[in-house]
Order: sequence, then C-alpha cells, then structure tokens
Amino acid sequence: MKSFQVVEFNAPLKEVDQPTPQPSGTQVLIKVKAAGVCHSDLHIWEGGYDLGHGRKPLSLKDRGVSLPRTMGHETVGEIVAFGPDVKAGDKADLKAGDVALVYPWLGCGKCETCLAGEENMCLKPNALGVYCDGGYADYMTVPHPRYLLNLKGLDPVTAAPYACSGVTTYSALKKVEADFNTPIVIFGAGGLGLMALSLLKAMGGKGAIVVDIDARKREAAEKAGALATVDGKAPDALEQLAKKAGGPIRAVIDLVGNAATTQLGFDCLTKGGKLVIVGLFGGGAPWALPLIPIKAITIQGSYVGNLRETQELLDLVRTKKIAPIPVTPMPLAKANEALVDLQKGRLVGRAVLTP
Ligand SMILES: [Zn+2]
Ligand SMILES: [Zn+2]
Repeated sequence: MKSFQVVEFNAPLKEVDQPTPQPSGTQVLIKVKAAGVCHSDLHIWEGGYDLGHGRKPLSLKDRGVSLPRTMGHETVGEIVAFGPDVKAGDKADLKAGDVALVYPWLGCGKCETCLAGEENMCLKPNALGVYCDGGYADYMTVPHPRYLLNLKGLDPVTAAPYACSGVTTYSALKKVEADFNTPIVIFGAGGLGLMALSLLKAMGGKGAIVVDIDARKREAAEKAGALATVDGKAPDALEQLAKKAGGPIRAVIDLVGNAATTQLGFDCLTKGGKLVIVGLFGGGAPWALPLIPIKAITIQGSYVGNLRETQELLDLVRTKKIAPIPVTPMPLAKANEALVDLQKGRLVGRAVLTP
C-alpha cells in the first residue's frame, strides 16, 4: 500500500510504500476511495495551535500526536476484508464491496464516556488520521466495523467531508436547536458556513445571518440562502446584526474562532444567549468577565461530533437531499500540493484526495 505521511512537522509529506495489511482482530480493511483534506490537517502538519496572549503554542506533540503519521480523517472506502474476530452482529448491514464513511473520532473505547457513545470526548483520544493512521493512503484499517457507516449510494467524494466538517457543523447546530425559531448568527462563510446553512434549513431552522470579512464569501452565503450577511470588519457590524436580526439574537455559532469573531459574537447576544465556538483559528479570549454573568451568557465549545450524530447526518443528507459542498478532487499523489494550496487559501471548495 501507498501512503503519504507526516515524518516531520511542517516538512513535505513522504510517500511510503508498505505491504498492504491483513485485518486482524475486529479490524476492517478498506480500499480508500476519497480522503478529504481538512483545515485541521494543517494544524497537525504544522504541529500546533496558537493560544494567544503570547502563550507557547499548543503543541500536538505534547498532546500525544507522534510521527510518522498518515493524516486523513475524512475517509470513504470500499470494504475489502473483515478481521477474524468480526462477528456477524458487528457488521450491521455491511459486506465486502460496500462503500462506507469512516467515523474517525475514536476514544479508548472502554471508559464511561466512550461507552455512552461520546468517543469524541474521551480523554484518551485515538482519532484516525490524528493519533492513528488515516486516509491519505490507498488502503486503511479501521478498528471495528461499527465505525463504518454505509453510504448506500451517496457519492464518496462529496460524502467524505461529512466525517469532520459535516458532523462538526451538525453537532454545533444541535447545540442551539432550541433557538431554531429565531435567526442564528453564523461566523464564517467558508465550507463549514455554507454547510451550516443547508443543514439548518434541513433541520427546520428559521435561517441564519452570516458574518464574514470576505465579500465573495458573503455573496456565496447569500446565494446559499442566508437571511442576510454582515461584514465583520464594518465599524457598525454590531448595529447591522441587531437590525438584520429584527429581534434579540439568542444563538451564535462561531466557525472562525479568533478574538474578533468571538468578541462580536459575544456582544451581539441577548441575555441568556449562547455562543458556540467551533473554529480553531486561535488567539486569546476577548470578553470582559463581568459581562458573562451579567448577560448570563453560555459559552460552549463544540468539537467534531459523535458516531450517532454522524449517522443522523447521513440520514438527513439522504432524506432531505442536501446539496453537496463544492469539492476539488485531486489524486493522492498530490497530497502535498493539496495541503499547500489549503495553507495558501488557493482552494475552491474542499480538496478531496482520490487514490
Ligand atoms: Zn477535520
Ligand atoms: Zn474512552
């Protein structure tokens, strides 16, 4: 098998040839059909996050990410073989030849959090493509068939990003579901923002006001059905938000996550409102602490989503015919170029590697 591995943080990926593994235990061997190149792969590749206030960057090495590592946590593959310990009941509706989405956000599989189905919240993460090898390869092993979700005819290339950006957006929206009868404010009109707009509609929400500093992205959000858009850099952005919402703003989803977006997101909320931070752009918190209790604001982080939510998302996509997000398919051999293009902001839509 061929894979493209991070052998050194920030250095080009290395092409590695190894014998294709046989699945052991409960593993499933898949032939990769699509591997999305996610923005968080850049953080893995670069080796960390900016924490702001001059703090030392949050290093992934300190968080247990060891090298070499095959990245890729948005993977769709065709099932080749099941390990000897896979029982008929483990496979659900899966058989060799089926095409499935890999749920990558694994934990230890043993603790209470994992057993409650919240593996993405486990304190001993084992995420595929982060802590274990992922989909920048032509073959990949998945530890158990329960992490494979049958695509049942959905297109592998456009479905791959549902494993990360899709479920991340879906899980963030679920956290403000109680406020779907009011306009939600969404920061960031990139891939996640556009996906949030179509999911919000499919989930029965009233709609969203989208904030972005890029005029082209605001235009894309308007085309994708945003109720209104606001330039986050405008001096009167806060007044514009209040006016366009036409009433109190109860929920904000920040898909950017920098000091400026979290400040404006916090400021535009009414009393008792909720700010859900998803984006990992980085920086330090900007809020005046007394305003958090005075406004009784909830600030909640949202990190990817769980297996159940991923299945719900696929069902929603299938039943509501959600339009696919724009993708740029690229051959696996161009994994390095895809990362550099993403880093330089040159990609239209999401790059998906197709071995
Ligand atoms: Zn991702
Ligand atoms: Zn666990």
